Amino acid sequence: MTSAPFFQPVSGMDLPRFAGVPTFMRLPHVSLDDPRLAEVQVGIIGVPWDTGTTNRPGPRHGPRQLRDMSTMIRAQNGATDVRPFEQINCADLGDVAPNPADLQDSMQRITAFYERVRQAGIRPLTAGGDHLSTLPILRAMAANEPLAMIHFDSHTDLFKDYFGGTQYTHGAPFRRAIEEGLLDPKRVVQIGIRGTTYDSEDRDFAESVGVRVIPIEEFHARGPEDVMTEAKAIVGALPTYVSYDIDFVDPAFAPGTGTPEVGGPNSFQALQVARLLGGVNIVGADLVEVSPPFDASGATAFLGVSIMFEMLCQMAQQ
Ligand code: MN
Ligand code: MN
Repeated sequence: MTSAPFFQPVSGMDLPRFAGVPTFMRLPHVSLDDPRLAEVQVGIIGVPWDTGTTNRPGPRHGPRQLRDMSTMIRAQNGATDVRPFEQINCADLGDVAPNPADLQDSMQRITAFYERVRQAGIRPLTAGGDHLSTLPILRAMAANEPLAMIHFDSHTDLFKDYFGGTQYTHGAPFRRAIEEGLLDPKRVVQIGIRGTTYDSEDRDFAESVGVRVIPIEEFHARGPEDVMTEAKAIVGALPTYVSYDIDFVDPAFAPGTGTPEVGGPNSFQALQVARLLGGVNIVGADLVEVSPPFDASGATAFLGVSIMFEMLCQMAQQ
């Protein structure tokens, strides 16, 4: 399949990459009401929302900085020579409009946006937003059947509740998603888990429902190729969502996030695991938890959009 000329990104040879109105990867902006929406195959979407954050906030500013830093991305993958924008029609579908003062209303708005995306036959690649953003996305994407999931993170995000009963935080999206039947827990793998915790309640839940947790010690001992071979065996050919929390990466390489944990993968390994997603039936993917207030140099956002580009290259080859 080849892309329509309209969907080519603006080249830095035509307009310097520091100039112009920023869109994700310099792609055309196509709103949900645009007649060209029907031609889009992968839509990049911003979710500027962090009402689920329990500690240091800021990912509501993520999509804007990710868009800005994404102008650094060129058209060809340096490792694989893939040129995704020539293989499929990609566009920037804009931002979901959250209600920053109302968590439930925001989740309904996000789900409604992604229902329109799914009904248009578009696979979404999302720039968060905190990790609670993934729950309302899954409510739309898993409308017909529970999904499998490959999840990169230093946290399981499987906690029961916070502060004695609060259900909706960025530490709980996948607990809720499993309870709601959006994910098949036996087809969920979580990679990179580490750091201090309050207790083992999340890990006990994971074990009780069959979620495969690969802690960082095992990741470093086995290496990315071996771990990703297992991850791909767990999801098989099933429709799979890929959720990538930037705090999977060591804070030496990705300091701009609210809940960093030391001892993580470096930036090369961060790209490598995304590059090893080949063959996975990706129905949607996200990159969440980039927090510009803690990202003074922009390096975290640049790594974030570089990971998004690797995931896009995999989605383009399906
Ligand atoms: Mn997370
Ligand atoms: Mn995390």
